[in-house]
Amino acid sequence: MSDCSNSDKYTERPFIVAGPCSAESRDQLLEVAAALQPLSIDCFRAGAWKPRTRPGLFEGHGEKALQWMQEVQQEFGLRVGTEVCTPQHVELALQYGLDMLWVGARTSSSPFAVSEIAQALQGTSVEVLVKNPISPDAALWAGAIDRLRAVGIADIKAVFRGCTPLSSSARFRNFPYWRLVALLRAELPEIPVLCDPSHITGARSRVADLCLVAREMGMEGLMVECHQYPEKALSDAAQQITPEQLQEILCTLQHRSSLSSSEQESMVGLARYRALLADVDQAMFELLVQRMNLTAQIARYKREHGLSALQPEQYNHVLQQCRNMAELEGLDAEFVCELYERVHQESVRHQSLEIEKKKE
Ligand code: PEP
Ligand code: MN
Repeated sequence: MSDCSNSDKYTERPFIVAGPCSAESRDQLLEVAAALQPLSIDCFRAGAWKPRTRPGLFEGHGEKALQWMQEVQQEFGLRVGTEVCTPQHVELALQYGLDMLWVGARTSSSPFAVSEIAQALQGTSVEVLVKNPISPDAALWAGAIDRLRAVGIADIKAVFRGCTPLSSSARFRNFPYWRLVALLRAELPEIPVLCDPSHITGARSRVADLCLVAREMGMEGLMVECHQYPEKALSDAAQQITPEQLQEILCTLQHRSSLSSSEQESMVGLARYRALLADVDQAMFELLVQRMNLTAQIARYKREHGLSALQPEQYNHVLQQCRNMAELEGLDAEFVCELYERVHQESVRHQSLEIEKKKE
């Protein structure tokens, strides 16, 4: 398996992009920019156009927001960036002198949309950030970067913001399949990868932890959503943190980077393995949920056909299959059968309850 981290870069100062999810008003932008400026962030972010999954929500102020961004740039000397979803967005953002443009997760999922944006960027030297697509597809992510490089964009960074989960998870809004980062690094080792903990966790209480994990894994920077009054934000209110909270996180990171390089190296290694294990655990959990859902369907079928929950012949057959597969894969057959028996018992219990319930 390729390496998730770029550990020699861990000691370098992280590249920090921070700012609100959306540009909501001139006052809001100037206020949060004033609070972020002393933190020496590398780029101030705010969405002028917000691609919302469902219609009817706040979709951004568009061109008006670009004027406010320009004011932030001039008044605070901050580099400023926004998300672009169409060639028209690119043209306008360049017209207003934005320093960074990012391609969001919904757009990087669409090769034609990325090609159109790339065409509009041809001949410019603006910095471009590319978020991973909403599905866990490293080739699609690398492909979006290739399309931008093909028109001569040299200053590119990737941003990992997790992927839409199959089932809702209490821990993550977008599941961080860290293996995707490893796959992208294998394809494009020279591209720095930032982590977007805000969209991964979806909850401000977990943003700090994820920032630490990302740095321990050797990611080169962070994109963090910050708002002066997070709970009042017009988009992504649950995940934005205050500039003061970001400052605390940056101080903790700075402290960690003062550790010796061997201490850091062992943290990077462990964090990488833990993250890969978490991917596998999540996949096992999702399969368990699918299995239990199927159980409910089978129970209905058995009830309609007057069959009992436990079918011994079928059970013995499956158990034998488990034993054979375990031996083939070099796993302990007793352990695998025990595990399977436990899952099966739970399944029969569910089925019996379901069958009895409907009889009443
Ligand atoms: C955002 O950064 O506000 C955003 C919309 O992100 P993503 O494309 O990752 O959903
Ligand atoms: Mn957002």
